Amino acid sequence: MATIDQLPPLREVIATHGLIAKKSLGQNFLLDLNLTARIARAAGDLTGCDVLEVGPGPGGLTRGLLAEGARRVLAIEKDERCLPALAEIATAYPGRLSILNADALEVDALAHLTPPVRVIANLPYNVGTELLVRWLTPKSWPPYWQTLTLMFQKEVAERIVAKPGSKAYGRLALLAQWRCDARIVLTLPPEAFTPPPKIHSAVVLLTALPEPRFPANPAILSQIVAAGFNQRRKMLRASLKGVAPNIESLLESAAIAPTARAEEIDLERFCALARAVEAARSA
Ligand code: SAM
Repeated sequence: MATIDQLPPLREVIATHGLIAKKSLGQNFLLDLNLTARIARAAGDLTGCDVLEVGPGPGGLTRGLLAEGARRVLAIEKDERCLPALAEIATAYPGRLSILNADALEVDALAHLTPPVRVIANLPYNVGTELLVRWLTPKSWPPYWQTLTLMFQKEVAERIVAKPGSKAYGRLALLAQWRCDARIVLTLPPEAFTPPPKIHSAVVLLTALPEPRFPANPAILSQIVAAGFNQRRKMLRASLKGVAPNIESLLESAAIAPTARAEEIDLERFCALARAVEAARSA
């Protein structure tokens, strides 16, 4: 197998450091360095960017990011068994790799990064969606990152890019597509990983828009979407009853039939409804 750097092959790294995969940490490693370099390239031009990587593990993707020219990589890894392998990569790329042995949910990554920033990760499945939601809901927009290039279970990736009328369409699609362009750039079978998971995986590229696609108050939009999809089989006039007392007329003012269901409504109309609810509340 062709290699992208002078470091040992990943199978050797794993054997040397005894990195037996732990299921509890979502450890399914990518050992093909050509594939990890491909994922790095899917994120766009890395030269001149700081990259935040969550869960570097034995460092296959980390090596891809560095070989593709990332100015600096900040890698946050919870499993301290991976640290010696990551330290070897840091030595091979002097001054370009910083490693934090921490839980990514507990760290303020921004404090360690200099813009422009790209986030690129083969995420642990147990915290992937939680991290995505946090990256998509910063205090202000645009966020500190330009792009998110993230590996998910294929089913989660499909929920992120889903369009109205499909089964996968819901809160995640609306949250992601309100302020980002989102597309699947790569799909991988279980055999691409060691050990192979039960499911297929996919890489999603999310590019932050300078401003939301349609104006809306984030808290109100989130409340409407949550209420609508919590009871996705109900008509909106019923599922959104708690959002505003006169919900039927607000739905109509947003060009939404009160008998429609959440999964039929596109982002533009959800945003129109959020604006109508906000105006009614402040009247
Ligand atoms: N990036 C490596 C690769 O592509 O081969 C490993 C990916 S593996 C799917 C997920 C990695 O995330 C593991 O190394 C695991 O130890 C790490 N991890 C799990 N939970 C974490 C957390 N809360 N914070 C940081 N790292 C975590």
